Amino acid sequence: MDNIAVDIDDVLGDFTSNFILFHNNKYGTKLEKKDFFSYQYPMILGVSEQETRYRIDNFYMSDYFKEIIPVSGSVETISSLKELGYNFFIVTGRKYSLIQETREWVSKNFGGMFSDIHHTNSYHPEGERIKKSKVCLELNAQIIVEDDLMHIKDCSLNGIKVLAYDNPWNRDILPKGVVRVFNWNEILKKITI
Ligand SMILES: [Mg+2]
Repeated sequence: MDNIAVDIDDVLGDFTSNFILFHNNKYGTKLEKKDFFSYQYPMILGVSEQETRYRIDNFYMSDYFKEIIPVSGSVETISSLKELGYNFFIVTGRKYSLIQETREWVSKNFGGMFSDIHHTNSYHPEGERIKKSKVCLELNAQIIVEDDLMHIKDCSLNGIKVLAYDNPWNRDILPKGVVRVFNWNEILKKITI
């Protein structure tokens, strides 16, 4: 049966909604999810790279980060597919210093559903960055559910079937063969067809 890799932020957990709550409460902004049309946070927040990093690090240390809510339907779909015999792995771009918090969040919200959690450190300036395609190939994952265009392109180029989770920042033309999905019910159908 297939091994399936799944991203966390804005695929399994609604990261951006809680970041927006944090930012609006702390800095008095009126950000909405539709404002996040790219990963250019300094441009979206209107502050420097350094200030952006400071704010995101504060978000990581806050309860808003711990209390990220699972994306609607994700728990149900993953448990149904697990019953059918699929194996799930988390492949997240989060930095290595978030390993502990990430494990806690996954076991609280998706206890027993994932065989392992892999961090690729894709957005942090320090430490080794690993390509998600490399992790998927090592895990023998045939499918990845992902929302970052950088990873979507990398995995698709390396022969992994990509289900691209629709978000405001990935509404470009997707690489050939990549399928855009809008919710977890649709993912259930696409995988079991
Ligand atoms: Mg993501």
